[in-house]
Amino acid sequence: MDRVIVVGGGLAGVRAAEALRSKGYEGALTLVSAERHMPYDRPPLSKAVLAGDSDDTTVDADWDALRCDLLLGERATALRLAEPGRGGTVASTAGDLPFDGLVIATGAEPVTLPGDGHQHVLRTIDEARDLRERLTEGARIVIVGAGWIGAEVATAAAKKGCAVTVVEAADTPLAGAIGPEVGALTAPWYAEAGVALRTGVKVAAVEHGGLALAGPGGGERIDADEVVVGIGVRPALGWLDGSGLLLERGVVTDGSFRTVTDDEAGAVRPDVVAVGDCAAWWSGRYGRRLLVEHWDTALNAPDVAAAALLGQDAAYDAVPYFWSEQFGRMVQYAGDHTRSERLVRRGDPSGRKWAVAWLTGDRLDAILTVDRPRDLVQARRVIAAGTPVDPDAVADPDVPVRQA
Ligand code: FAD
Repeated sequence: MDRVIVVGGGLAGVRAAEALRSKGYEGALTLVSAERHMPYDRPPLSKAVLAGDSDDTTVDADWDALRCDLLLGERATALRLAEPGRGGTVASTAGDLPFDGLVIATGAEPVTLPGDGHQHVLRTIDEARDLRERLTEGARIVIVGAGWIGAEVATAAAKKGCAVTVVEAADTPLAGAIGPEVGALTAPWYAEAGVALRTGVKVAAVEHGGLALAGPGGGERIDADEVVVGIGVRPALGWLDGSGLLLERGVVTDGSFRTVTDDEAGAVRPDVVAVGDCAAWWSGRYGRRLLVEHWDTALNAPDVAAAALLGQDAAYDAVPYFWSEQFGRMVQYAGDHTRSERLVRRGDPSGRKWAVAWLTGDRLDAILTVDRPRDLVQARRVIAAGTPVDPDAVADPDVPVRQA
């Protein structure tokens, strides 16, 4: 392999470039990224950058040592594939880029709402800087979505003395991510921070100066100086339409991030891998496809994707992990609870430090911790090993989380 193109300059793209070189790839390497900035980290955007504590989150990579050509501010527009294993061409705003190995790492884009009013989203550093300027004392900030991003923006805005309202369609915050029962445990944090939380409210449109709500009453408006929309993201796959790759919610891959064709053969393309927020990868551990939109996967999975592209044996078997910093708390999650049998509380959720664990029989499926980082580390190890636990011990915050 002598010409590898990485499309996407987020963390997954950078880590793929680093991993290719560290695994001995010596050929030409080009990274194409739609943003004009040097690749940077996104988690601080809704935390330190909004708070005004940081303005630069550039990823610390040695581009000279990587011998990687950076095409910044350039966008891939289409993908034309040759026979499997024979590469193809990325059409881009910088011209045609032939390759014999391709890494797709185009991440995800925020979902927006209908309406003519201005809506802030928070995916890029430019968007974070713009929003930060508007979080001034007394400004009426209305945030749509009480998910991870919504909660973090609310935290920053409330700290700056804004009048913050969060509008959520579900009955609790974080219902989609961690379920309504656990999501409800975070609802009091909003009031405590002086943030008005309105759940079960559907937005019809973003209008000039506020939101129009949907629903039986109709016609209700919430006035706002700024509207921030944090209702989720979708993989950035538009440029792959008609490429012949199988696309579902993300780019479909096997357990090594190798893509698959969308024809009857459904052949694996060993010369094209997809990784990070844009990839829907096969998890042998969970026996289904996962699309994990979190930093830890963007950091670690490219190692496996790069190995696969170079023809080395590799499979990704990590337990999903993420964190969020909201309302003065560190929230961490590891595992996957979607098929769990039951939930166990570990400590009192009305207190400052607690956790919940999801179990199936005597197996620990997942844990969510609030300011209990040690629980997280211990549980993550147990989940990864798949060893049995004593459910009564898991429910006791004074006992370490460990194998029974
Ligand atoms: P991205 O970071 O989205 O990078 C993709 C890049 O590809 C972008 O630069 C994009 O412009 C570029 N691109 C897209 N299309 C094209 C194209 N056609 N041609 C060329 N380039 C293209 N995760 C956590 O676990 N914990 C957190 O606390 C946390 N906080 C977050 C806070 C914010 C505000 C955001 C936005 C994300 C946060 N995340 C967090 C998620 C984490 O940042 C992402 O999972 C991670 O950035 C994914 O990396 P990626 O490289 O796959 O995609």
